[in-house]
Amino acid sequence: AQAVLAGASGQLRTMATVGGNLLQRTRCGYFTDITRPCNKREPGSGCPAIEGEHHNHAVLGASEHCVAVHPSDMGVALTAFDAVVSWRTADGADEAPLTDFYLPVGDTPHRETVLPPGALITHVTLPPARVAARSRYRKVRERASYAFAIGSVAAALEVDDGVIRDARLALGAVASRPWRARLAERILVGAPATAEYFAVAADAELAAARPLPHNGYKVTLLRNLVVAVLTELAEETSR
Ligand SMILES: Cc1cc2nc3c(=O)[nH]c(=O)nc-3n(C[C@H](O)[C@H](O)[C@H](O)COP(=O)(O)OP(=O)(O)OC[C@H]3O[C@@H](n4cnc5c(N)ncnc54)[C@H](O)[C@@H]3O)c2cc1C
Ligand code: SF4
Repeated sequence: AQAVLAGASGQLRTMATVGGNLLQRTRCGYFTDITRPCNKREPGSGCPAIEGEHHNHAVLGASEHCVAVHPSDMGVALTAFDAVVSWRTADGADEAPLTDFYLPVGDTPHRETVLPPGALITHVTLPPARVAARSRYRKVRERASYAFAIGSVAAALEVDDGVIRDARLALGAVASRPWRARLAERILVGAPATAEYFAVAADAELAAARPLPHNGYKVTLLRNLVVAVLTELAEETSR
């Protein structure tokens, strides 16, 4: 709910659908400017963002062919909690975990999801997760409302006697898809619920970051965001 409420404006949220939100395209300015080349819009034409305007582009999982980010807020929270996307085509029904729904960028940035042509998303399922009882979505943007994220975190913690029993972590506005921080989750489970360990987990996840000249700030922003959100959740859990 926090992630949904962080997205767009009241008017847009009233009209928008879950399937449409997950399938929205990138806000990369070169993608929307049809006078410019763009590998995502026109395969093989080039990626001007890499040497151009990329302050809100990807730091994780990008390729030399495209560095765009996925703009969804809701998708980040759904990714953290193992959502499954179900669809239907004329040939029948199928489904995929959201973490596998978006394709890696590679040299085919124009191919974004596993959804077959003509498929209609019918529903998205969230399996029960005890850890979700203590969860949070935090979004950082350049103005207080009606703006896309420059970094976001969906997180949940289950803490018992000061030790992390379960953790969920996904990052937004850092990659071509909502980024499930599985390495950080593995480090967190079994560790003391302290800011020191939260920072170790964040640093480990972000060690794979490959920032461009004008978006390196995202690595620091995401690190601080992860530590802050996890610290808040840990404090709530111990109350
Ligand atoms: C000014 C502005 C600010 C915004 N800010 C944010 C933000 O901060 N965070 C955020 O997350 N989003 C933001 N958005 C995006 C907004 O949330 C999406 O446009 C909206 O969620 C799209 O939903 P929709 O149902 O209108 O999809 P549509 O725009 O109707 O559809 C999007 C795509 O998905 C396809 N599609 C839709 N439903 C299905 C389905 N069931 N099965 C298969 N294909 C389908 C459509 O064919 C289309 O290709 C913003 C948009 C605007 C205009
Ligand atoms: S980052 Fe992706 S969407 Fe943007 S110009 Fe490059 S190829 Fe196109």
